[in-house]
Amino acid sequence: MTNQIQPIFILPEGSQRTTGRSAQRTNIMAAKLVAETVRTTLGPKGMDKMLVDSLGDVVVTNDGVTILQEMNIEHPAAKMIVEVAKTQENEVGDGTTTAVVIAGELLKKAEILLEQEIHPTVIARGYRLAAEKSLIILNQMAEKVTENDDELLRHIAMTAMTGKGAETSKELLSSLIVKAVKSVMEKENGKLMIDISNIKIEKKTGGSVEDSELINGILVDKEKVHSGMPRMVKNAKIALIDSAIEIKNTEIEAKIQISDPSQIQAFMDQEERMLRNMVEKIAKSGANVVFCQKGIDDMAQHFLAKKNILAVRRVKKSDMEALARATGAKVATNLDDLNVNDLGKAGIVEEKKIGDEDMTYVKECENPKSVTLLLRGSTEHVTDEVKRAIEDGIGDVTASLRNGGVVAGAGAPEMELARELRKYAESLSGREQLAVNSFAEAIEVIPRTLAENAGIDPIDILTELKSAHDKGMKWAGIDVFSGKVMDAWKNNVIEPLKIKTQAISSASEVAQMILRIDDVIASGKPSAGGDKMPPGMGGMGGDMPMY
Ligand code: ADP
Ligand code: MG
Repeated sequence: MTNQIQPIFILPEGSQRTTGRSAQRTNIMAAKLVAETVRTTLGPKGMDKMLVDSLGDVVVTNDGVTILQEMNIEHPAAKMIVEVAKTQENEVGDGTTTAVVIAGELLKKAEILLEQEIHPTVIARGYRLAAEKSLIILNQMAEKVTENDDELLRHIAMTAMTGKGAETSKELLSSLIVKAVKSVMEKENGKLMIDISNIKIEKKTGGSVEDSELINGILVDKEKVHSGMPRMVKNAKIALIDSAIEIKNTEIEAKIQISDPSQIQAFMDQEERMLRNMVEKIAKSGANVVFCQKGIDDMAQHFLAKKNILAVRRVKKSDMEALARATGAKVATNLDDLNVNDLGKAGIVEEKKIGDEDMTYVKECENPKSVTLLLRGSTEHVTDEVKRAIEDGIGDVTASLRNGGVVAGAGAPEMELARELRKYAESLSGREQLAVNSFAEAIEVIPRTLAENAGIDPIDILTELKSAHDKGMKWAGIDVFSGKVMDAWKNNVIEPLKIKTQAISSASEVAQMILRIDDVIASGKPSAGGDKMPPGMGGMGGDMPMY
């Protein structure tokens, strides 16, 4: 019997492992790098990024989540930060940069505590306490908003768009946004229901952003099928049909075998009669406009034109659904069943040229539950970025209405929150107190970054802000244009409460999660070359022991 120790391999070949402080340091570093990347885009004076993908397509944007998605981040801890941005985007639709920057800063502060030999679980616990307290403080701080506060809602939309591509037209766009959200809003048992997928955003390059409009109904990206049809129909009675207005080939093949020329004529007569019949059924229902999800036979088009019915074919399913919601029509699967009760209504259905394309407007719908925001802009890059800004605006107005709470922005709520957290910290024991204080300091990264991005000295303005908050000015924030302290509420910089609560809870959750990791085991990729490092293990400094 020998007592020789054999090396034991519990992981497959190619696996890599980092443990202890080294794993923590690497993860924190990766997370901080992600935050650092988007940091310069924060706020009205934030800069844009140009992202070029492997095909050479260019995106110019200021939107946190878009940047992170386009970057194809690989490091596992960095990916967790990207998830924070995605959650924020899904839950609120705005505030993605804020959430990521806070997460990065929480980890940065945690690193300092780790250096002081404070155990990660203690830090994580302190952060959890601080995050819970933050939600209470923010809720107390918030003001109320309802669907009747149009002015306030417009300011929320405008704040979301400040500093984005949409900025120059924010007056117009903010009122379109508020109208759009309010049109699709429904009340169920006194509860507000808003499904923003009922706001269709249609981009068309050409013209300027100022030419954008809200259509009380749907814009269908299709033209009428026959030149003989009316270009415009007033008091439209709309049939939505999801079967083809054609005779199926298979049916005919199955039925006829032609052996003599007169039969061809008979067959054609028969086909004509069937199509004429189909059109008769549509006309009999009282419809003067038809949207068909499938095809419309040439001959049927001709008959429809003769009856002065405007018809559009091959309409997308999503458009059919939107049309149903906007006009109150029921989609008919079978022409035999089509009757007057299935028809929808619109004040006007009209074919119009936008740019160089013919589109069909279905507008002036009474109480439409689905609307279209038609976005114009000189180039595709412009309309894309305006669209992202509008989506932020829609998200913020919706979040404010759903939750009913709003706060001022410009760094004011973060300063107030930090102040209250420090007070709270005093009630805690030594080490947790340190963690809560670090949390408070981390939250101040928002005003600090707003200042830095605007070229304002962060130390001076933060000192001024602190003293304003000490004097009870709870909405004291940074006027990024003058570099002075302002009352952000009075200056109409307004944001939904939910942006702040969501950003803080997801940022602190991810920070806690990353802090608790002290062992990273990455299995080797079954890569062909074998020279590729497992995700995230490359390039992060060479001080990690590998097993
Ligand atoms: P995010 O992706 O986090 O929404 P933004 O680039 O939209 O990032 O910046 C949001 C920040 O900008 C918020 O802290 C908000 O309060 C601030 N902000 C917006 N408008 C103004 C303004 N007019 N003055 C100062 N700060 C503003
Ligand atoms: Mg924003």
